[in-house]
Amino acid sequence: MITRSYDYVIVGAGFAGAVLAERLATQLGKRSLVVERRNHIGGNAHDGIDASGVLIHNYGPHYFRTNSDRILAYLSQFTQWHEVEYKILSWTHGRLWNFPINLNTFEQFIGKAATSEEMQAALERWKVPIQNPTNSEEVIISQVGWELYEMFFRGYTKKQWRREPKDLDPSICGRIPVRTNRDDRYLSDRFQALPKNGYTAVFERMLDHPLIDVQLNTDYRDVMATTSCGHMIYTGALDEYFDCRFGPLPYRSLRFETETLEQEYYQAAMQVNYPNDHDYTRIVEIKHATGQVCPRTTIVREYPQDYVPGSEPYYPVLDPTAKEMRDRYWELAEAEQKVSFVGRLATFRYLNMDQVVGMALAEFERLRSKLNA
Ligand SMILES: Cc1cc2nc3c(=O)[nH]c(=O)nc-3n(C[C@H](O)[C@H](O)[C@H](O)COP(=O)(O)OP(=O)(O)OC[C@H]3O[C@@H](n4cnc5c(N)ncnc54)[C@H](O)[C@@H]3O)c2cc1C
Repeated sequence: MITRSYDYVIVGAGFAGAVLAERLATQLGKRSLVVERRNHIGGNAHDGIDASGVLIHNYGPHYFRTNSDRILAYLSQFTQWHEVEYKILSWTHGRLWNFPINLNTFEQFIGKAATSEEMQAALERWKVPIQNPTNSEEVIISQVGWELYEMFFRGYTKKQWRREPKDLDPSICGRIPVRTNRDDRYLSDRFQALPKNGYTAVFERMLDHPLIDVQLNTDYRDVMATTSCGHMIYTGALDEYFDCRFGPLPYRSLRFETETLEQEYYQAAMQVNYPNDHDYTRIVEIKHATGQVCPRTTIVREYPQDYVPGSEPYYPVLDPTAKEMRDRYWELAEAEQKVSFVGRLATFRYLNMDQVVGMALAEFERLRSKLNA
C-alpha cells in the first residue's frame, strides 16, 4: 500500500544523486526521497575522521580536479577549497621514481641530467609507431616504448584489472599523462583541490533542504511498494536494475587495509604505486593532500579484488564483451521513460567526480525542459 508520495525517488546519495536532489529542490521546488543502501551519504566520495583522528577517504583517494568553470562554480556553493598538487611516486626496481613519467623520471632512468629535447628524442626512438591505439598496451607503448611500459604500467594494470593491458580499453591507461618537462603533478587539469572540510560536509550541505528526505541503510527495492513518485533517478548499477537479464556486467572491487602510525608522516608523497612488488597496487597517505595537521597518520593499502555480489562494484571493466553487453542494457535504459540513469554505475562508465556532476547538471536541465514542454 502506498503510504508516501514524492516528485522524485533518487537511488543513491553519491554525487549524481545529491546534485539532482539539490537542483530539483532549490530550482524547481520538487520533493525528493534519496534512498541510499549504505549507512552514509557521499557514495564513493565519502570521507570521515577515523578512530585516531585522521581524515581519510573511505573508498580510496578522491582527487578532485576539473577544467570546467561551470562545475567548479556549482560546487563552490557548498564548499571552500584546499588547493593541492597531487604528487605520486612509483616504487620498482628497488627504488622510488617520479611518476607520471616526466623529465625527472627520464633522468632517473638514464642516470644523468638531461633536457626535454633529449627526452623527446629518446621517446621518439623507443616508442612503437601506432596511429590509433586500440587498447591500453598500445596507448602506452606508442608513447614511451616497451621498457618503461613494463616498468610502470603492465604490472600495475594487471594487478588492478586482472587482465593484460592489451585486453583493456585505451582510456584506462590513456588517462595517465607522459610529460617531457618537470611537471610531476599526477593530473593535468586546471583546477585541482579538495573540499576544505572534506567531501562529506559538501554532501551534508547539498542535501540539507526541507524538500529532501534521505533514507539510509535502505535498498530502493524495499521502499517502492510503499512509495510513489513521478520519476525515478537511478544511480546504482545498470545491470542490477534490470536483474542482470543479459548477464552480470564485470566490475573490479577493492579491499582497503588501513594502518595508523604514531608519526606525522609515513611516506614521501600522498601516493606510492607498487607496479611490480606486493599484492597491493598503492599505499595512500591522504594527509599529504588534505593538509590536516595531526601528530599521527593513517595509510591505506589497496588490494584489487574480483567483484562478487555483496562486495562493492568499484570499477567497470571496459573490455569489448562488456561494452557490447552494456550497449544492450543502455537500450533498455533508454526505453524507460520514467527513469533517468545517471552517474558512474548507472551508465557503466569510468567517470570522475566532476564528470558525474556535469552529467547530473545536464540531466537536471533535461528534466526541467521536459517539465516546461
Ligand atoms: C577507488 C576509487 C577512486 C576514485 N578516485 C577518484 C578521483 O581521484 N577523482 C575523481 O574525480 N573520481 C574518482 N573516483 C570516481 C568517483 O568515485 C565517482 O566519479 C563518483 O563517486 C561517482 O558518483 P556516483 O553518484 O555516480 O556514484 P557513487 O558514488 O557510486 O554513488 C552511488 C550510490 O548508490 C548507492 N546504491 C547503489 N545501488 C543502490 C540501491 N539498489 N539502493 C540504494 N542505494 C543504492 C550506492 O551505495 C552508492 O552510494 C574514484 C572511484 C573509486 C572507486
